[in-house]
Amino acid sequence: MKPAEVVVIGAGVVGLSIALEAQGRGLSVRVIDRTGVCAGASAGNAGALAFTDILPLASPRIIRQAPKWLLDPLGPLSVPPRHALKIAPWMLRFWRASWPARVRASTIAQTGLMALSKAAMEPFMIAHGLVPMLRKDGQLQVYEGKAEFEAALPGWAIREAAGIEVQHLTGDAIAERQPGLAPHFTHATFTPGWWSVSDPKDYTEALADRFRALGGEIVIADATRLLPTGWKPRPE
Ligand SMILES: Cc1cc2nc3c(=O)[nH]c(=O)nc-3n(C[C@H](O)[C@H](O)[C@H](O)COP(=O)(O)OP(=O)(O)OC[C@H]3O[C@@H](n4cnc5c(N)ncnc54)[C@H](O)[C@@H]3O)c2cc1C
Repeated sequence: MKPAEVVVIGAGVVGLSIALEAQGRGLSVRVIDRTGVCAGASAGNAGALAFTDILPLASPRIIRQAPKWLLDPLGPLSVPPRHALKIAPWMLRFWRASWPARVRASTIAQTGLMALSKAAMEPFMIAHGLVPMLRKDGQLQVYEGKAEFEAALPGWAIREAAGIEVQHLTGDAIAERQPGLAPHFTHATFTPGWWSVSDPKDYTEALADRFRALGGEIVIADATRLLPTGWKPRPE
């Protein structure tokens, strides 16, 4: 097999986007996936281009909720006991990242990254004929009651301060935006700047088709290790 200038491991939405971008810069690119195109999360994510989501996951609120979630068998966080020790150093870093000064720094960094991705996304989709899959419908976050809504307000204030358009809605204004919602959703926040793709699997498969059409190669193989250039096996 002829060596490629760029080898991408993983034929999901991230790997294939990188592969197309590198190909567009005139490089020869090979994508390796142990299973095939769209074998992982890209087949079933929510298809959101969540440009308005500038708040880092590590935050004092998440740290406060984490113990409750760990004890709840239906909670969003679960750590199998045999994995707890292995994951401890990562948990420690996550906890440190939730300190207020670090949250502020991460928010600034994430705001910049989101602006860059938003500016790059549409030209990328136009270049590859993917615009029919782009939805600019925004996102409606709904709340079951005033207390839940008010708890979210500080986060919305940070987004607004970063220049993100936010519309808080109640009553008929919610039904107008999204007819048919249950009445216990008493409050909602709409962010028009949130985009999505119509179907994440179709989108990722279209990236793969485009990559192949432009001469790219997708190989089924398991990447087991990375070796630095010039590496030679040690004599036995
Ligand atoms: C339920 C859910 C909903 C989500 N919704 C969103 C959303 O709406 N918006 C958003 O931005 N993100 C969302 N995410 C995050 C999501 O994971 C990413 O957006 C995206 O799908 C990740 O793409 P990826 O290409 O990095 O990973 P994947 O699509 O998982 O692709 C990784 C690929 O790498 C291959 N692979 C891994 N290791 C090797 C190896 N050693 N050798 C060869 N191949 C290998 C796998 O087979 C797989 O095909 C969601 C995640 C989940 C779980």
